[in-house]
Amino acid sequence: MDVHTKEQRHFNMSRICSKNTKPELLVRKYLWSKRYRYCLQKNDLPGKPDIVLPRYNVVIFINGCFWHMHNCKKFVLPSTNTEFWYDKLSKNKLRDKKNYRKLKKMGWICIKIWECQLSKNEKKVLEKLHSILIDIKESISTEHINNFV
Ligand SMILES: [Zn+2]
Repeated sequence: MDVHTKEQRHFNMSRICSKNTKPELLVRKYLWSKRYRYCLQKNDLPGKPDIVLPRYNVVIFINGCFWHMHNCKKFVLPSTNTEFWYDKLSKNKLRDKKNYRKLKKMGWICIKIWECQLSKNEKKVLEKLHSILIDIKESISTEHINNFV
């Protein structure tokens, strides 16, 4: 017998799957403070980007280093069930790639931010975000010309 009621289970699942992780909040807070208006998780887009900036045709993914196999210190393959994890995580990575490709074809600019890039001190993180957004603004005009003319 499952001791959880349906509602309880749903609640638990939504807690586990909740995307309101701290790094994501940091990015959102920053965007908001700079008057970038965004939508959250447009589920009709491939890979369900964490943040969508429709005005700039930009989607942002905030990737956990473990789940997306980042080549950094935070990623360590578990020492038990190694093969299972390797297989599972490799599939995640492959799926990421496919989604980025699809989004690009649809005209979106994909920005990938890694969890570890957001766990440094806040000032550095904000600097990084700032530089990303400058890049976006500058590339927008040329991107559009290249894509649509
Ligand atoms: Zn990382």
